[in-house]
Amino acid sequence: MPTFHADTSGLAFDFCKNVKGHEYDDKDFFREAAAIAKEMGFSWGGDWRSFVDLPHIQWDDGKRYTDSDIKAGRYPPEMPLWGGRGSGHYLSHHQ
Ligand SMILES: [Zn+2]
Repeated sequence: MPTFHADTSGLAFDFCKNVKGHEYDDKDFFREAAAIAKEMGFSWGGDWRSFVDLPHIQWDDGKRYTDSDIKAGRYPPEMPLWGGRGSGHYLSHHQ
């Protein structure tokens, strides 16, 4: 998703496992890391159907913002800080 990666938006990042030679081959690693991010309202490229992008995480405020929003200059609110697994604190304003 180049739009979320754009320098002007800075709403996405790609990550990998910090093990030489096995940066991208551990699907469970990506799934577990993504579960935490998703709990905070990030979207994970591993959930996409058209192009599965395991290392990709983007901040779209629980899928409320799309590429066209970003292109139009409509950016999601600030990313939440990590409040501890299962706290649900940062998602509560959506419920
Ligand atoms: Zn990416």
